[in-house]
Amino acid sequence: MPYILDIDGVICRGSKPIVEGIKAVKLLIDRGEKFVFVSNNSTRSRRMLLERFRSFGLDVSEDKIVVATYATSIYLKKRYGKLKIFTTGEKGLIDELKLAGHEIVDYDDAECLVVASNRNLDYNLMTKALRCCMKADIYVATNPDKIFPGWDGPIPGTGMIIGALYWMTSRMPDAIVGKPSEIIMNEALSKLKCKNAVVVGDQIDVDVVAGKKIGCKTALVLTGVTTRDNLKKMIEKYGKPDYIADNLFQLVKNL
Ligand SMILES: [Mg+2]
Repeated sequence: MPYILDIDGVICRGSKPIVEGIKAVKLLIDRGEKFVFVSNNSTRSRRMLLERFRSFGLDVSEDKIVVATYATSIYLKKRYGKLKIFTTGEKGLIDELKLAGHEIVDYDDAECLVVASNRNLDYNLMTKALRCCMKADIYVATNPDKIFPGWDGPIPGTGMIIGALYWMTSRMPDAIVGKPSEIIMNEALSKLKCKNAVVVGDQIDVDVVAGKKIGCKTALVLTGVTTRDNLKKMIEKYGKPDYIADNLFQLVKNL
């Protein structure tokens, strides 16, 4: 059975690899199984993630990575063609948008606003985003994440900008590409060239919900956000995954 694998909390925590996660991916490669990575990361391009994977000792090809920066670029191209885009995002997103053929312009020339995290967000950038949001025909966000687990505590996600724009303009994005949206999941299935897969992640409300939406089996691993302590509460609220494992290696070894 092919796998759709989350990255953060499954094979790494930020730039730190999770040993069992890496071991599991190597096992999948050895067995010749199909898999693709799906991540809501909105600041990194596929190339940046490949570099990180290489630092973990994993050599995978670009077509195995469906990250929100790439999925958003492709979604816009398929749905609207090449666009003039203003984005709040960082270089990783800008690179993917350009690779898909879009043109990056200032806010007053844009037909489309793409909202994504930016770790240098300031008043000037928010002002441009506000003006673009009030005027652009198309408004999409790379991912819906409100908060991320940083190494020393929670940090704001793309939701910070979506929320601020909504508070100012009452406008929500026309589409939010990242999990649990079907947009990014369908892109993953089309990369796998199949209709079914096991969707693996560390968050029930994100990964498991996304997997159920596209009718796939789902698996939760306890190496990230969800732990034995908050597991029961999350299942009650969002539903039960088909499989629960301590880590990715435990899961793929037994499947
Ligand atoms: Mg995760």
